[in-house]
Amino acid sequence: MAKVVVICTGGTIASRRDAVHGDIRAVANGAELVAELSGLPDDLEVEVVQLFNVGSYALGLPEAFALARRADEELQRPDVAGVVVTHGTDTMEESAFMADLLVASDKPVVFTGAQRLATEDDRDGPRNLSAAIRLAADPRLRGFGAMIAFDEEFHAARDVTKTHTSRVGTFQSAEHGKLGDVDAARIVIYRTPRARCPIPTTRIESAVELIKVSMGSSATFFRAALADGARGLVVEAFGRGNVPPGALEGIRLCAEAGVPVLVTSRCPQGRVQPIYGNGGGKDVAAAGAIFAGDLSGIKARILLSVLVGAGTSREDIIAAVGRVAD
Ligand code: ASP
Repeated sequence: MAKVVVICTGGTIASRRDAVHGDIRAVANGAELVAELSGLPDDLEVEVVQLFNVGSYALGLPEAFALARRADEELQRPDVAGVVVTHGTDTMEESAFMADLLVASDKPVVFTGAQRLATEDDRDGPRNLSAAIRLAADPRLRGFGAMIAFDEEFHAARDVTKTHTSRVGTFQSAEHGKLGDVDAARIVIYRTPRARCPIPTTRIESAVELIKVSMGSSATFFRAALADGARGLVVEAFGRGNVPPGALEGIRLCAEAGVPVLVTSRCPQGRVQPIYGNGGGKDVAAAGAIFAGDLSGIKARILLSVLVGAGTSREDIIAAVGRVAD
């Protein structure tokens, strides 16, 4: 009998409105969420692990790291076919990408959650959870790495992003498209994800910040991050990877301090390339920043926290970024 381990971390899927405070809190445990499901195949056994029970806005990189390690540990068990993670949607793509980078097993890790509370009549949680469990048990998804299953679709952790604050079809992989559909009892695969290259590490670096540039923005945030002990920085630059003069100054300060900088774009699609002169991307690259292909800023930050945590040299960071993003 195939076994799927469901690791529960909280989020809206486990949330109810608090009677005293009137706000929304994660309170339902994983066993309650699984007990609600009907229609799972009879030959499928589900085991629940309650790791956290919080909104994902309260999770940090150390928790995402602990989660990825726990998923990998469960996947080492020969009786486990795959892992499901229930998680808030706010930072789900970050935890999922962390797992994608770290999990050594080729068995699937499927993240899911909900946009509607566990108490709403039209809640999306049970449907999403049941789809995620069936995906995690499907041997055709071995090698697919970490994924997000939501609203009858599943997406590669690397490519997917939350696009809507409240609608159930929030997760999209704008440029590369979904991996497939969960159409009632059928799982339909449209594409395979980009090949994974798991990074072995026993620690990650949490002091990695993300700075988004805007027209005329200054070096202030770079200075503050350096003064506060940042060990890595990701810049969400304009278009192809250009920045305003103040940010270029900030990137030079990072280079002087030996702090690696990855450059991504604030455009939701496309790759960065150091091609513009006169203070543009070519000067950003000349200042020592590493261009991170089509990775989003938040995914590049996860990658850099893993690479810096693993004690990777500058040359190896460049090589690893090339493998994951080119
Ligand atoms: N809105 C979020 C969710 O869908 C809250 C969180 O990320 O925990 O779960």
